[in-house]
Amino acid sequence: MTPTSRRNFLKKTAALAPLAMTSLAAKAQQSGPSSSDQFDYIIAGAGHNSLLAAAYLAKAGNTVLVLEGRATIGGGVKTSEVLLPGFREDLCSTVHSAYAANPAYRDNEIDLREFGYDLMDPEIVVHIPFLDGASITVYRDDPNRTAETIAKISKKDSETYKRLAILQAKYSKMSQTERASSREGKFWRQIGELSGYDAARQLWESPHVQAANLTTGHFSGNAGSDLGMGRQAYQLITYMSGRPIPRGGSGMLSDALGRYIEARNGVIATSKPVQELIIEGGRCAGVECVDGTRYRARKGVVSTIHIKHMIDMAPRELWSDELLDIVDIWQPEHAMFAFTYALSARPTYSS
Ligand SMILES: Cc1cc2nc3c(=O)[nH]c(=O)nc-3n(C[C@H](O)[C@H](O)[C@H](O)COP(=O)(O)OP(=O)(O)OC[C@H]3O[C@@H](n4cnc5c(N)ncnc54)[C@H](O)[C@@H]3O)c2cc1C
Repeated sequence: MTPTSRRNFLKKTAALAPLAMTSLAAKAQQSGPSSSDQFDYIIAGAGHNSLLAAAYLAKAGNTVLVLEGRATIGGGVKTSEVLLPGFREDLCSTVHSAYAANPAYRDNEIDLREFGYDLMDPEIVVHIPFLDGASITVYRDDPNRTAETIAKISKKDSETYKRLAILQAKYSKMSQTERASSREGKFWRQIGELSGYDAARQLWESPHVQAANLTTGHFSGNAGSDLGMGRQAYQLITYMSGRPIPRGGSGMLSDALGRYIEARNGVIATSKPVQELIIEGGRCAGVECVDGTRYRARKGVVSTIHIKHMIDMAPRELWSDELLDIVDIWQPEHAMFAFTYALSARPTYSS
């Protein structure tokens, strides 16, 4: 590790922050289009979900305008050099398993490879070190090698891991009918109905193996103490299918989507927070930004702005009662955060 004092660290970070906020798509449209420009669709917010919607709309021949409130596109899918020079970090998301299974990537419906997005699937899926020096490593598609690392902690759990990996592989290929009637199907359903904690105690004897599964299982966001979270108790088996990550960092997805949209004549404007939806004749006809600019959409407005915020952007009586009920009772749960380290060498794994 490069030694750096806290004072230096803060100085360097402050100096780098503005650089980190500059990205390709941000440079493309600093000032924003004219309000008189006509677009088929306006996309409010440029997280990867709305960028993908914009990419599909642009591919279908529509003119799109993407308005992002921050200085860069991407939302939770950004990679920037904020810690030390030369170290690019994912600011939120890292793993793109869900995107790998999305037809946009899987079936190449939105071809981002030519715009710099490509996934790699590392052999070491996850490594879990414990304070007492023990550790577990999950190897992609390799139950025996993974089980060897568990055997150093518990022989019994290592055998259970190999047995459950076979059961899980069989189960994943079953039809819904087979799942409902087979022994394996009933087993996994019953495990799934338990809380993560109860299921982990059922499956594993070692607190290390229980904790390793529950910690990684918890990445999905639900509390392991909730009923129905039993699947968290065997996350290290699920992980054997791999955790694809983009070459160059998570933000490559947002950058590639931005390039894709611009290559199809889409317009991306950053530092353009939307504050109000323009409603005409009972339909959303466009948006108004904080700076007062108004943009109109011929066909529709799409947004992934958080629903708790978006609901205040139009008169409350225009939303359905059903939607209002759901939004009113929605509560944020636990926060998610990531640690990033600037290392001077590749990590070595102790197991
Ligand atoms: C620490 C952390 C780690 C994570 N790791 C993973 C992971 O490894 N894999 C994974 O799949 N997921 C992960 N996630 C979750 C993932 O990051 C989010 O699910 C994803 O970013 C949501 O994308 P989105 O497009 O729906 O919304 P967002 O990314 O939230 O995008 C919304 C966009 O709208 C903009 N916006 C908001 N209000 C306005 C406004 N009024 N006007 C204009 N623009 C506005 C925002 O600035 C933002 O750019 C992680 C999340 C965190 C916090």
